[in-house]
Amino acid sequence: MKVALVTGGSRGIGRACSVKLAEMGYYILVNYQSNEEEAKNTLALVREKGSDGEIIRFDVSKKEEVEAVLAKWQEEHQDTYIEVLVNNAGIRRDNLLIWMTDEEWDKVLGTCLNGFMYTTRAVLKNMLVKKFGRVVNMVSLSGLKGLPGQTNYSAAKGAVIAATKALAQETARKNVTVNAVAPGFIHTDMTQDLDEAQLKVQIPMHRFGNPEEVAAVVGFLASKEASYVTGQVISVNGGLYT
Ligand code: NAP
Repeated sequence: MKVALVTGGSRGIGRACSVKLAEMGYYILVNYQSNEEEAKNTLALVREKGSDGEIIRFDVSKKEEVEAVLAKWQEEHQDTYIEVLVNNAGIRRDNLLIWMTDEEWDKVLGTCLNGFMYTTRAVLKNMLVKKFGRVVNMVSLSGLKGLPGQTNYSAAKGAVIAATKALAQETARKNVTVNAVAPGFIHTDMTQDLDEAQLKVQIPMHRFGNPEEVAAVVGFLASKEASYVTGQVISVNGGLYT
């Protein structure tokens, strides 16, 4: 049983990544925070691909929860390990910095940055021991370019980009690759409130992307074929930023 964990697998890009990895034969751990119904829907889609999986709830921003749930899972599955980790869980709390509350800052950093750290640390040891692993971090155009109204989100995603490059060098000798995928504007719940008609004018492809277009790149980075690719950030943004 080859196992992949997708944080925030209940919706949007995380769901598409779960389905893609299921297609590749992975047993999928579908993580979510609060939306159990949608996590169940993702698991049903995973099963439609002829694979299987389970729902695994934890809040990536809560260190004790992440560690306890993953340690328990590993304890109950001593014959296998999580060989693919997609750090996808993320949130936005947009505001101009002068108006930004501590809560908006802490929530976004807690989920997008601390969540990456807690989850990766919990699964990395086995990848190193087994001398094979794939970590794919979902970052953002915002973390590469910086977007006004998103200093919290840009800071978190930019930090994960830097961490991707650093960690990749720590783990390369053990065949554990660490890469990041930076989507532009993708149709999900997260972008529902955006003015697509206005924003798409700036996108060379004149449209928002679909979660499946992001998941295709995640699938490649998770595959054996990507064995010599590490420490990279791959943009999936319709040509918006290069
Ligand atoms: P989404 O549709 O809003 O889904 C977010 C997912 O993250 C949900 O599954 C949610 O779980 C989960 N989540 C949120 N906080 C969590 C926490 N503390 N612990 C565990 N899970 C948590 O978002 P999306 O658009 O698919 O975004 C996925 C990733 O892509 C994020 O990292 C986002 O920053 C990044 N991204 C998105 C876009 C875009 O245009 N959509 C662009 C660039 C980057 P529940 O269902 O339980 O709430």
